[in-house]
Amino acid sequence: MTRTCIVISRKCKNCVRAETENTHKVKANGVGLMAGKGSKRKRVSEDPAFEEGEPEYEVERIVDHRVVQNGVHYLVKWRGWPKESNTWEPEENVANCKQMLQNYHKKCKVLVSGSASIGSSTYRAVEKFKKSLGYPTKEMMENIMQTFSGRGGLVHRVPKENDIDNKILQLLELPKGRWDPMAVQNVKDDLVIREFHFKWQEQLKKLQTSEMEINSSANKAHIKVENLVDLEEIPTSFTYMNDCLAAEGITIPEDPPVGCDCHPACSPDSGNCCGKLAEATFAYGPDRRLIVPVGTPIYECNKRCKCGISCLNRVVQNGGTVDLCLFRTLNGCGWGVKASEAIKKGSFVCEYVG
Ligand SMILES: [Zn+2]
Ligand SMILES: [Zn+2]
Ligand SMILES: [Zn+2]
Repeated sequence: MTRTCIVISRKCKNCVRAETENTHKVKANGVGLMAGKGSKRKRVSEDPAFEEGEPEYEVERIVDHRVVQNGVHYLVKWRGWPKESNTWEPEENVANCKQMLQNYHKKCKVLVSGSASIGSSTYRAVEKFKKSLGYPTKEMMENIMQTFSGRGGLVHRVPKENDIDNKILQLLELPKGRWDPMAVQNVKDDLVIREFHFKWQEQLKKLQTSEMEINSSANKAHIKVENLVDLEEIPTSFTYMNDCLAAEGITIPEDPPVGCDCHPACSPDSGNCCGKLAEATFAYGPDRRLIVPVGTPIYECNKRCKCGISCLNRVVQNGGTVDLCLFRTLNGCGWGVKASEAIKKGSFVCEYVG
């Protein structure tokens, strides 16, 4: 069955009047505005595609559109019903109205090509607008990142893509010269924050991998890797190691010159422990903290000694016990190391090179 109807856009300035075209039957969205008013929309012809007894309505025109999570919704004016009865319908409910939809989008200056779906053409128009704003640069993302730094890390909202697209569609309903600069800036900010969020997620994954690699060696203490400042990752030139690496021309002696035979255990009181045998002093107190002035040579027990690994005179060789954080500095000095916990004076922290 064929009828004619007029397509007029109410909201879009560019959609003033359209040519006549075939009538369009659709299944109405069951929960339309009229549902609560006790009346029914005008029923049009029978169609085998429609289930028996299901009401059908005639689209008079497409009034507006909006991008939602699962595609595009169209605001439909129903023939024979006042505009107060207009309903938002999902794309599939107006799929029969192909020509009407194409005309509507043409007049909105939204690109339509061949049989491309309306959803994808609207998408292209929105993407074209985004491109016209320019891709968010790393600098833009890092500038906005610094405003997020808080006690819990980088606290920020993530603008939803649909919300951004809806803002863009609102802008596109007006000619470029009438766009509100604040609204354009708002879209720009949203795009920068959203892009930053994904880059930050990628960065977090890489930092976590670095953290796992560093902690995979048998450390007693945990080393956290953190960057709350910019989007930099751990430099590839950075190497974490738990072994002593001698510089060229240096040989680390394998055979210690002295070893002790303390009984019952090595302590500051034992007369011939390693420190004293090397004509120095015992370096550690009972809690394994340094009791000699900074710069004093330290002679720890070694493989020549009779004592075991729990000897009081074995501290540096057993590794650090203080949790540390490898972090990006705020003052542009690159990466640094800080303690993640309070450290008692004289405690061994770590060996640090560089
Ligand atoms: Zn010892
Ligand atoms: Zn000893
Ligand atoms: Zn010893």
